[in-house]
Amino acid sequence: VEINKIRNLSIIAHIDHGKSTLSDRILELTKAVDPREMREQYLDSMDIERERGITIKAQNVRVNWNGHILHLIDTPGHVDFGYEVSRSLAACEGVVLLVDASQGIEAQTLANCYLAIENDLEIVAALNKIDLPAADPDRYAAEIENVLGIPADSILRVSGKTGVGVDALLDAVVERIPPPKGDPNDPLRALIFDSIYDQYRGVVSSIRVMDGTLHANDRLRFLQAGTLQSVEEIGVRTPVQVSVEKLGPGEVGYLITGLKDIGQARSGETITTAEKGATVALDGYLHPKPMVFCGLYPIDGDEFEDLRESLEKLRLNDASFTYEPESSLALGFGFRCGFLGLLHMEIVRERLEREFGLSLIATAPSVEYMVTVAGSVDAVLVDNPSEMPAAQSIIAISEPFLKINVLTPSEYTGTIMELCQSRRGEMVNVNYISPERVEMIYRIPLAEVVMDFFDALKSRTKGYASLDYEADGYAPSDLVKVDILLNSTPVDAFSAIIHKSKSYDYGRKMTTKLRELIPRQLFDVPIQAAVGGRIIARETVKARRKDVLAKCYGGDISRKRKLLEKQKEGKKKMKNIGRVEVPQEAFISALRLD
Ligand code: GDP
Ligand code: MG
Repeated sequence: VEINKIRNLSIIAHIDHGKSTLSDRILELTKAVDPREMREQYLDSMDIERERGITIKAQNVRVNWNGHILHLIDTPGHVDFGYEVSRSLAACEGVVLLVDASQGIEAQTLANCYLAIENDLEIVAALNKIDLPAADPDRYAAEIENVLGIPADSILRVSGKTGVGVDALLDAVVERIPPPKGDPNDPLRALIFDSIYDQYRGVVSSIRVMDGTLHANDRLRFLQAGTLQSVEEIGVRTPVQVSVEKLGPGEVGYLITGLKDIGQARSGETITTAEKGATVALDGYLHPKPMVFCGLYPIDGDEFEDLRESLEKLRLNDASFTYEPESSLALGFGFRCGFLGLLHMEIVRERLEREFGLSLIATAPSVEYMVTVAGSVDAVLVDNPSEMPAAQSIIAISEPFLKINVLTPSEYTGTIMELCQSRRGEMVNVNYISPERVEMIYRIPLAEVVMDFFDALKSRTKGYASLDYEADGYAPSDLVKVDILLNSTPVDAFSAIIHKSKSYDYGRKMTTKLRELIPRQLFDVPIQAAVGGRIIARETVKARRKDVLAKCYGGDISRKRKLLEKQKEGKKKMKNIGRVEVPQEAFISALRLD
């Protein structure tokens, strides 16, 4: 392949702005897919993605256009996967910025554009859905010029639905995006920017050759993982996988080495040859770091081993979540899991339930705190409230912060400020990107965002605001651990680390909730919320007077027996905490966020 004929690009778009539809049109126009085989959203893969309409991982594909080779490289469309986006962009020389002509640019898209600009990528901007009556391309072209400095008259206008302007867009890609650089005779350096697990072939990685040439019979060294692998197959996706003998500089394709562990072929990995290879890895590799944690427990305790197996299988396809066994007084045996973000957490949980048929309870999401205790120099990391050191020994607790970026119609700035303040956010900046739209930047604790911030933002702005975030370090905060006690025994699953100013509210909320959920016992049951031994809220479940059999008036024997049996069965699903019988259902309901 002649390097000057290659164009590597990624389509950056907000969810629903039409990336999948445009990709379909490109596949048709370049005759990559036989019309008889064409179906909607051709490149999207997982069921969950289709249903939710979000692309987490789609395929990368090579198409031909007027004597040129275009590699379309997919980037995930959600904030949780920012690192994956950065690795995909590292494989490109340019991006197509696709913006819905009836909506305008959104926060996540803007963030990815800044990333593209930082990486010196060429941006080809296009307004999509110009067939819609509500489309206002002039207005949004001006906005893009305003915020990104891309001249409005260079912005293309297309419709992925009707196909209008798609050929002109491909021409612009060829004209404006520079070809890759690289010498085929240099030592090999190829970037892995995505890996999936295939049950027959093992790990299949998407790669971009940066320098040198990758041959089908090479023996390889993975520089970050530090392993040696032999090539089993290399090839390109057209989108059907076609094996090739070699991939030169600038080429994008797939690599199969027979590797079984996807964690050994992470995004950002640099591949070189085992002999005479490169010694310096490509820039930008990061180990994925979980940001959000929760406990996952099977509702049926017998499913613990199934849950373990399912987690193992899921991990084959997603090396970015973590899990380790833990046990809880209230919930039995389960796993402490770590995720890149809230959506990632939901996806993993949903896949466990859907693909593996498990029923799960999840504890409230938490973040990772840095805790300094008396007599120790190093801070300890705590992601599970029940593992927080005793209050008396704690000197300081630091929590992770985010810098969030909200794009919103200007009429909602007031309500967003209110929301951010109530979540302990500090305003960093406010920019008007047009008279109607505002970009608001806040520094805010991650823990506050993890708690349904996104939903709150959407409902306050009728869905019009969009959100992007990046990690912004740790800072000390006035945090306390709130314990919930049942008959004086702490219930581990309900412990939470909370800002002091909100601890009282949490205590009140949980005790009230539990009073309604816990059935009456033979004695009064106190439900208390406590901070370091000090009670901050209290409710009581009053004792019941009669026991179950009393209802039968000593009459019908078989009915009595049935009742006893039923009671026994119910008991199995009861947990005994501080001599209090608590039905499993009470824990599930109490853990539900509202
Ligand atoms: P993605 O989330 O960016 O992949 O967006 P999709 O391609 O799934 O499109 C989201 C929705 O917009 C779907 O209902 C599409 O049918 C619709 N859509 C996409 N492109 C166009 C277009 O050019 N015109 C119109 N009218 N609708 C479009
Ligand atoms: Mg899509």
